[in-house]
Amino acid sequence: MFCLAKHSPCGPSERLTDNGVGLRFDKLTALPALSLPKGSNVEGESLAYSPGPMPRAQRKARAMVGHELVEAVLAANQKLDAVVERVCGACEYSCCHTGTMVGSHGVRRLYKGMRLDREVASRVRDGLDERAKELAADLDTIEQVTGMLRTSYGQEMAEELAEVEALTDDWRKFTDFVASQFEPSPENLRRLIQFSAIRHNLLRQIREFPGAEAALANLCAPGGSFHFRRRKLAPPRCMFHAQGCLLGRYKPVKCANFFCSGDPNLLAECQSEMDFDEFVLANMYAESFEFVKSATALENELGREYWEPKIAFTSDPQQQAQLQELVRQRDGKVEIRQEPGSFFLSTQELLDLTWEHGRDNTLVFCAASVGSPALYELAVALQQGHNDEILGGFVLIAESFTTPSFMPHPMWSDRLMSQPLGSLDIYAVRED
Ligand code: SF4
Ligand code: SF4
Repeated sequence: MFCLAKHSPCGPSERLTDNGVGLRFDKLTALPALSLPKGSNVEGESLAYSPGPMPRAQRKARAMVGHELVEAVLAANQKLDAVVERVCGACEYSCCHTGTMVGSHGVRRLYKGMRLDREVASRVRDGLDERAKELAADLDTIEQVTGMLRTSYGQEMAEELAEVEALTDDWRKFTDFVASQFEPSPENLRRLIQFSAIRHNLLRQIREFPGAEAALANLCAPGGSFHFRRRKLAPPRCMFHAQGCLLGRYKPVKCANFFCSGDPNLLAECQSEMDFDEFVLANMYAESFEFVKSATALENELGREYWEPKIAFTSDPQQQAQLQELVRQRDGKVEIRQEPGSFFLSTQELLDLTWEHGRDNTLVFCAASVGSPALYELAVALQQGHNDEILGGFVLIAESFTTPSFMPHPMWSDRLMSQPLGSLDIYAVRED
């Protein structure tokens, strides 16, 4: 047990107030990608954050390390999984049924996940086999409808029909590709995200023919996807959805940030069942040191495009030294900074550092502790840096996690529609 005030390096920006009871966030920058509810007071620029006096009982912070931290992470993971299963299960994963959030950054995350975890690789493969059957069923329907169009419009709309046939051919090739046991290289995985365009182009052309869209829904083969939702065909499912998301923790940042417009709402349910620190713990992964090393080494091997911010909690000096050494092996300049106390930098300070440091280099912080608000600030800044294309490598090695927070981060208490931690890989190192 220790007091955060004692260990925190209250520098010129006074990260703790004089009496040590409150954090002051000098400047917060909300993620531009976040949709904020009407009336929110966080809108891209600055927000002063200074708590009032706290009850004495809440002032005592302590450091969680090792086994205790791992246990807390596992318990929080379990709680979060139960909420997701209950809420997303009830809504039948409707957000994943309106297209995909996976873009080229998402493909890189997935590629790393498949390299790091065989279970992820085989789950994705099995899910794609399932999706290939759906694509094949839809192809049957498309061919039937095209046959009917040929009979009815073969002469008067020959050009349009030729276009439908060419686009059907694109669908056929895509179906064959998904069904093939293709090697999960970044190029091949990138092909999967072309599906939205393939489907959109074909349906747009088919709509040129009166009644053709309705025919797709009426003739939809068993296991196919052509169903009406209100007056239009329902949008396509994300290619990485089959009985739930196939990507797990390697889903795109936007999905990992709990962006949810459903009712009941996933984030609102998380907030009613978890406190701020618990939610942060639930966004960590209890992993062996070997795994943390593999994840770091893989990013070294793949290069700058694949770097993502990493936070590792370990109180073992040997592991800390090994991680530093591993990060030093990557391309570019690697600067290591020691923070003898608690790590806390505001979003603006972090953005300034990121800019100064350059996107080809890596910054490593080694700190005695870090708490939930600091992780939030870090996530907001690094996501902003990523969006602005100024982000290089960032690694934080902390001995302990400070809890409880003196107060939650405003993004949590203002109940914004998404939370920022999805852009961070946060590992609580467990013993093998
Ligand atoms: S995140 Fe929201 S919209 Fe998406 S499946 Fe879960 S509850 Fe439904
Ligand atoms: S990546 Fe996963 S969570 Fe995101 S839209 Fe696709 S299936 Fe849904």
